[in-house]
Amino acid sequence: MNRRVGILALQGDFSEHLAAFKGLNCHAVPVKHPAEVRACDALVIPGGESTTIGKLCQRFGLDEAIVELSERDAPIWGTCAGMILLAKEIEASEQWRLGLMDITVQRNAFGRQVDSFEADLAIEGVTSGPVRAVFIRAPVVTEVRADARVLARFDDKIVMVRQGNLLATAFHPELTDDRRVQQYFLNMINSS
Ligand code: GLN
Repeated sequence: MNRRVGILALQGDFSEHLAAFKGLNCHAVPVKHPAEVRACDALVIPGGESTTIGKLCQRFGLDEAIVELSERDAPIWGTCAGMILLAKEIEASEQWRLGLMDITVQRNAFGRQVDSFEADLAIEGVTSGPVRAVFIRAPVVTEVRADARVLARFDDKIVMVRQGNLLATAFHPELTDDRRVQQYFLNMINSS
């Protein structure tokens, strides 16, 4: 059963996501048109610049196609900017978002001094030790509501959340060699 995993290829680090999933022998494809999104069994929204990705989503009519995918209960994983776009609430921002997850996020939450850093995270549901996580101008989740569940924190900050078949990470698993978070997402796909 090799499901089709779409990687939203509008802006940001989609090629790293593609390479990571292809390395796991997945049928991963770049998508940028609504029909391509609709033909997928799952979708990854990469890191990049959330306002830019949001504008392009609207311009290409991808907003409706992605919402439809989530209504079909297809797994969707947002990393960093992708997490921002999945959130219903973005602190102090009116920017466009998909608004699918019952979470509030704060953009660029680690401030300028620590623009980028790495940390070891214990992730619920990921075994065999901590995962090295790369944060780049990362957001954090400041509130989870409804059935959204926290899967990982860095210090006291929430950096990974799951709500049903929606997954959000503030960090970038595609930028390391560890594929356990991709495997976690593939398990979501295989059990959906
Ligand atoms: N700071 C970016 C934003 O707000 C996200 C950074 C990233 O995706 N690496 O869109």
